[in-house]
Amino acid sequence: MKITNIEVFPLTLPMKQNFSISGGKVGDQSQGAPHVYVKITDDRGVEGWGEARPSHRWSYETLESVTTTINHYLKPALTGESATDLNRIHQKMNREIAAGLNKGMPIAKAAVDMALHDLIAKNNGTHLPGLWMGTYKDSIRLSYLISTNDPEQAHKKAQYAKENGFLAVDVKIGLNPKQDVRVLEAVKQAAPNLYFRVDANQAYDLTQAVRLSREMERIGVDVFEQPLKANNLHGHAELRRKTVIPIALDESIWTAGDLIQAIRMEACDMAVIKVTKMGGLREAKLCGEIAKEAGLGLLGGGLTESSLGLTASAHLFNYLDIQIPVDLNGPFFLDDDPVADGLQVEQGTVRLSGLNGIGCTISDDNLQKYLMKS
Ligand SMILES: [Mg+2]
Repeated sequence: MKITNIEVFPLTLPMKQNFSISGGKVGDQSQGAPHVYVKITDDRGVEGWGEARPSHRWSYETLESVTTTINHYLKPALTGESATDLNRIHQKMNREIAAGLNKGMPIAKAAVDMALHDLIAKNNGTHLPGLWMGTYKDSIRLSYLISTNDPEQAHKKAQYAKENGFLAVDVKIGLNPKQDVRVLEAVKQAAPNLYFRVDANQAYDLTQAVRLSREMERIGVDVFEQPLKANNLHGHAELRRKTVIPIALDESIWTAGDLIQAIRMEACDMAVIKVTKMGGLREAKLCGEIAKEAGLGLLGGGLTESSLGLTASAHLFNYLDIQIPVDLNGPFFLDDDPVADGLQVEQGTVRLSGLNGIGCTISDDNLQKYLMKS
């Protein structure tokens, strides 16, 4: 099973609505959403598909840099390699694009890793859970994303979540810190019984985060995600000592090494697992397993991937037995994507197909339709 070709498709997918986090707009309806699909073919003619969803307000990778990294660096390094030797594949990718403070270009590498998992599972006549010798589950629950600094809007959205079968809300704060408490109160009032995840995307300093956590204790928040800068493990550990609200880390944990540092520093109660952030299914699975063994809770998330990345993530989260509804929010923002067949989203539940590999069929017509115009 040798890699004979790697093809890269930079896409602009149509969006239903804008998406903002504390760092700014990460999805703009007028410009469309940047996604990169990758097709890897082996010497038997089997095809594997993977996806990257770069977001330059969230990390430094862009649609352009993911595309050129795979085309000019990863493709020449990997062509002719055995598709099944993922250890060697990742060693070669990491030698080709060296680390900065962290793994270099993890989102680009994740698309390659995902495509190889798809390829290997198809060659073995099984789905992703079969590849991991885990149980196949045909669905996963989603949380409902609320990203607004208007308390009235937040109230309406939380009410929608409650009335439409969602079991959890994921609320973005730090968009306008003055409104945070009012937004949180509005959500709690509208949906008091839903799991309440609050994500600050690094918006605060320690003093602000301690103050806000006191308000969260009063309001009844279930988890406070990434309040401080990614590299501030000491501050997160300090915050944990000052509040009973569980602290989750997302942007601080890109690799298993980061996770182990966070565990040593006692900097979090929960870890956010994301396939693309962690450089693919292999490292994300490792992080999930380490976090579980260390007694941390797990949250599942994504970077608004389309159906392909969502399905790959869903299989991993099911394998890791993540019980809290996950933040795979692509379907709330995307109007269409290149997946022709593979999953159905019904409000708070995604139904997965039993197809081999990741489980998605890709439409060539849609790939061409959404190919970025250069
Ligand atoms: Mg997050």
